[in-house]
Amino acid sequence: MPDFQKSIDSIYKEVLESPDSSTVASYIPELASVESSKFGIHLIDTNQHNYAAGNSGEKFSVQSISKVLTLSMALGLIGEKIWRRVDVEPSGDPFNHLSLLEQENGIPRNPLINAGAIVIADILVTELENPKEDFLTYVRNLADDTSISYDEKVALSEKGTGFKNYAAANLLKSYGNLRNDVEDVLDFYFHQCSLSMSCKQLCDTFYLFMNRGRCKRDIGYLDINQIKRINALMLTCGFYDEAGEFAFEVGLPGKSGVGGGIVALLPNEFCVATWSPGLNKKGNSARGMQALERLTTMTELSIF
Ligand code: GLU
Repeated sequence: MPDFQKSIDSIYKEVLESPDSSTVASYIPELASVESSKFGIHLIDTNQHNYAAGNSGEKFSVQSISKVLTLSMALGLIGEKIWRRVDVEPSGDPFNHLSLLEQENGIPRNPLINAGAIVIADILVTELENPKEDFLTYVRNLADDTSISYDEKVALSEKGTGFKNYAAANLLKSYGNLRNDVEDVLDFYFHQCSLSMSCKQLCDTFYLFMNRGRCKRDIGYLDINQIKRINALMLTCGFYDEAGEFAFEVGLPGKSGVGGGIVALLPNEFCVATWSPGLNKKGNSARGMQALERLTTMTELSIF
């Protein structure tokens, strides 16, 4: 095993010293107020040893990273039936693009773009008795951490400006691919995106995707084939229209969010999360991508 702490310390220094031309997301007003200089990285290995640097314990808005968690919960609840309502192809488009949805008759390209995640949210609103509470409990159980919660201010802020998501949900409804009320589904969706978590908590939560479907407490949530599907989707669809670049530079399945977080993993080896709010032109955390490229290059550990 490489010396992860040594690698992380040197990456941390290197990243902070390099020039930064990224910008913080502002289309959700509440996200614009986050300090752009924050940078944290956390890694957990299969022996549950933890390695960290910078603001790795500070909570931030996970945004689209939550789409992997709702997908995982929905897959556990209804299994393969999911794929009747959402496809598994990369879109090559930004996360909130709507044109493909029209061309493809209301079947979103994959569950990690907004339209796809809204269909998954609809499934959970149908299946769960208390959708917001039950999903939060699911995430807390995965991480074994009851301090994880929604950020109501962020959820409300997005509700006020989420016009494209309203458009996507209405389009889905018009094609018969949304069973519940648009308002109910989007209320759930804005809350899942508002989950507030640290890099450490993300590593704890995503542990099962690295550990063949078993969480940190060794409880099985998904089988190995379901994990294969989720990791494949993260690799091909986890980084907006930059999934190819992420696979090329980093070589790990992962997911980013406009809050500046990225979580990535090497099956059976480690799970790593970074947070730096400044985004590149494609909407991925610029420093996060840089740090993860350094990590897999330095340690020579990637899925390839
Ligand atoms: N809640 C955000 C939206 O729907 C998530 C965007 C993201 O992180 O990709 O626009």
